[in-house]
Amino acid sequence: MTAASMIPLEKTPENGFVNDVPEFEVDVYTGTNPARELAGTGVFPSGDGYVADRNVVERRWAATLEADGVTVRSGSPVTKSKFHSLIDRHDLVVDATGQPSLSSKVTGSTDEYSGYMTALNTDVQGDFSDIYPNTRMILENYAGYAWVFPKSTHRANVGIGWAQRDLPTDYMEAFKQACERNGWPIPSREQTNVAIIPEGPSLNPSRIYVPEFNVVRVGDAAGIANRFSGKGISQAVHSAYIMAEYAANGRLAEYPAALHKTMRPEYLLAHVVRGVLESNRPYLLGEILAAVSGLDVEDADRAPKHVLFRLLRHPVVFARLLSTPSILQRVYDAYTNDWEYRIQKSS
Ligand SMILES: Cc1cc2nc3c(=O)[nH]c(=O)nc-3n(C[C@H](O)[C@H](O)[C@H](O)COP(=O)(O)OP(=O)(O)OC[C@H]3O[C@@H](n4cnc5c(N)ncnc54)[C@H](O)[C@@H]3O)c2cc1C
Repeated sequence: MTAASMIPLEKTPENGFVNDVPEFEVDVYTGTNPARELAGTGVFPSGDGYVADRNVVERRWAATLEADGVTVRSGSPVTKSKFHSLIDRHDLVVDATGQPSLSSKVTGSTDEYSGYMTALNTDVQGDFSDIYPNTRMILENYAGYAWVFPKSTHRANVGIGWAQRDLPTDYMEAFKQACERNGWPIPSREQTNVAIIPEGPSLNPSRIYVPEFNVVRVGDAAGIANRFSGKGISQAVHSAYIMAEYAANGRLAEYPAALHKTMRPEYLLAHVVRGVLESNRPYLLGEILAAVSGLDVEDADRAPKHVLFRLLRHPVVFARLLSTPSILQRVYDAYTNDWEYRIQKSS
């Protein structure tokens, strides 16, 4: 996670914050074949980023909440009938169940979500002393990426994710090959998790609040993870804080628009950079990453203003970027809020 200070827990290993990452490295390769070349590298300092054991963070957070008098129940999924009973009994239900959200399942509208990436990941044992305490993300000229996030010199989370247009025929085999070519331990199928990451904005903002059910959505359930980097933890925490503020002020109806407004710059940046990746121009992508190298990782991911200032110092790279018609189209789409939301079915 890259905005760890937003989480009100001390950043200790006991609380699951196992690696205070100094730098995130992003390498761009020309492809996945053995003759591939390194097309560019960006190195992003991280003022507020940690590699975490997420299950530990969540357990410690739950314990802190319980100590504050909040009732926390775990290990029992909310069924559809339980959900109906919840919305009958409570003024407000916050749906933080990911994409597609439980409320969309209950209302038969899971197709209101659009894009997502499919990701495989697992923790592995090995020798990560060449990279620890830094992390590495690898772009290999497909719409997706692989990563190694060391938790110590001998333990790391490795993973890979693909957008739907570039899904492999055999996910596990593709994951193993990615580990092999990048020099990481090969995970077993049994230890590998499969999950999805929304390509924000993947839900019409008007659906983030569903007043007829007293339901409000945050995090992945609101479809707001970053469509380029796949990061969604900072975004989830960000949405929860905004939602809480608007709920406390009795202005929940305004929360979706307020959240969307804060997220739009990030959506634009991620849409454009993803466009460069999808245009199969790894050297251009490598030059862009080298040009913005040195920005804090949170800014490089979420703050187009900072990225733009960096790019303006590299006019040749900037001109190459803007001379690509598909990129200009993406800027226009993002500017006019033209995304791939599905039309809501009547339920
Ligand atoms: C492999 C992978 C790697 C990622 N790496 C990063 C990263 O490095 N950095 C980053 O910022 N983001 C990363 N992300 C994205 C990030 O994990 C999500 O964006 C983030 O977790 C969203 O948080 P959330 O609380 O909204 O949803 P989730 O974390 O998905 O939590 C939803 C919770 O709801 C529970 N739930 C679902 N249905 C029910 C039900 N019916 N009853 C009870 N509980 C239910 C689920 O069990 C789950 O615990 C990654 C995602 C994946 C898949």
